[in-house]
Amino acid sequence: MANKELLDVIIIGGGPAGLSAALVLGRARKRVVVIDEGKPRNAVTQEAHGFLTRDGIRPSELRRLAMEDISRYPSVSFVRHAVTGITGADGHFQASTSEGEVLAAKKLLFAVGMKDRPLDIPGLAEVYGKSAFVCPYCDGWELRDEPLVIINSGPELMHFAPIISGWSNRLTFCTHGPDGLTDEQREELGRHQIPLHTSPIRAIDSRDGIVQQVLLEDGTVIPCRGIFFKPDLVPGSDLPQQLGCEISDTGVVAVDMLGMVGATNVPGIYSAGDIASRMHQAIAAASMGSLTAASINSQLNLEAWQSQGTSQ
Ligand SMILES: Cc1cc2nc3c(=O)[nH]c(=O)nc-3n(C[C@H](O)[C@H](O)[C@H](O)COP(=O)(O)OP(=O)(O)OC[C@H]3O[C@@H](n4cnc5c(N)ncnc54)[C@H](O)[C@@H]3O)c2cc1C
Repeated sequence: MANKELLDVIIIGGGPAGLSAALVLGRARKRVVVIDEGKPRNAVTQEAHGFLTRDGIRPSELRRLAMEDISRYPSVSFVRHAVTGITGADGHFQASTSEGEVLAAKKLLFAVGMKDRPLDIPGLAEVYGKSAFVCPYCDGWELRDEPLVIINSGPELMHFAPIISGWSNRLTFCTHGPDGLTDEQREELGRHQIPLHTSPIRAIDSRDGIVQQVLLEDGTVIPCRGIFFKPDLVPGSDLPQQLGCEISDTGVVAVDMLGMVGATNVPGIYSAGDIASRMHQAIAAASMGSLTAASINSQLNLEAWQSQGTSQ
């Protein structure tokens, strides 16, 4: 692709959100480039669940099938690098890549996902994505009725408790430090006969990625077959924030969800998927990518329509 061609849309991120947007925009005859460094957050998993018609698919296979679909639309191309900088404004943005390439487009779509901060519990990295997960909608079925350790604390723990109890009632909660709970909340857990441990976790023992037991600093040993924990997440890229996109109090890019779905507060910049939503699921990301692509397409068509109207 020639470096100076003005495209319609640069999509940054080629996960379910970015690829779904690319498909819709390709079908709408827009000239699009997807720039993706290829480091999705779910790279640790073997199977993605809950994606209608693709339940249990390998994430890499889902990506391959998506690329196959998109390859039918010649106005979409791909660049396998990181975007390191953005300049310009609505109508003419320039994105520079880690390889020094510069691409220009009228609109930007950030579909950069979220990233985990390094896990601070010894042994957790070995089981993450195999028997330790973050979302029961994604992986709860596989661990149904198993003895589970839940690593969480404070109000989020109380929010999570009734949700996870739908998959298993063999639960032990570990807060890995101060629990952040009120007496009433502790009593509520007690009424449900859920053990609560505040001692820090010393280590997680596992065999071939399957957790066997959780060991606490106070000497407690908790046998279990699965873990759900609250990850420490950061945006997949700081670029939206650097460009002035508002970040919500839940740490994601704030976007319109009612009118121009996916539009940020910065003209010409859109965002979709995990980076712009609290619901972290592949099909939700794909759906948001699709809706956002429709917003971008409507806006581009409207702008073209208006400029044609004034030039006659
Ligand atoms: C352990 C685990 C298990 C999961 N299991 C399931 C499951 O079973 N079912 C399910 O539905 N969901 C599951 N999820 C959630 C699912 O993976 C996400 O909801 C989904 O991948 C979000 O899609 P996305 O397109 O928003 O972001 P991602 O898939 O994370 O894609 C973002 C892409 O943007 C790229 N990127 C970031 N910054 C830049 C940049 N500056 N330049 C270029 N590229 C960039 C990244 O490298 C990445 O490739 C799981 C997540 C985890 C962590």
